[in-house]
Amino acid sequence: TQRSLVLVKPDGVRRGLTGEIVRRIEAKGYTLARLELREATPELLAEHYAEHEGKPFYGPLVEFMLSGPVVAMVVEGERCIEGFRSLAGATDPTVAAPGTIRGDLGRDWGLAVQQNLVHGSDAPESAEREIKIWFPELG
Ligand code: ATP
Repeated sequence: TQRSLVLVKPDGVRRGLTGEIVRRIEAKGYTLARLELREATPELLAEHYAEHEGKPFYGPLVEFMLSGPVVAMVVEGERCIEGFRSLAGATDPTVAAPGTIRGDLGRDWGLAVQQNLVHGSDAPESAEREIKIWFPELG
């Protein structure tokens, strides 16, 4: 069975949407193997977002991710990587389909970074890489 690293980003925690987001993950039938309220660090985010270094939104993204606590989770279940990304919806919350986390709960706030409530690993290799970064004891 598959694992995915899911984050409730600082906007989701700040807005009190953690419970609603966890509810949707559990209602879909996935299991929580770990769940922790965490403060990210610049070092951790540099690893997590290594592929985006140099992009115009990288600075604002890291700053946003440091703006408050996040909830980090390891989600488990058959095809949960694809399944959670489907629950999350498109990256841009303005156009994310209604019924998805971003489509139902997110919007554009006119900022340099898309505050889109959640992160979910995009492939098995990135899931294992990200789980090692956030939960070294599970690596
Ligand atoms: P998705 O889950 O849709 O792939 P993601 O989180 O994997 O989203 P990435 O392309 O990996 O998206 O980008 C990481 C994060 O950077 C996004 O979730 C979003 O917060 C921010 N971001 C991405 N593209 C932009 C952009 N063009 N402008 C502003 N912020 C962006």
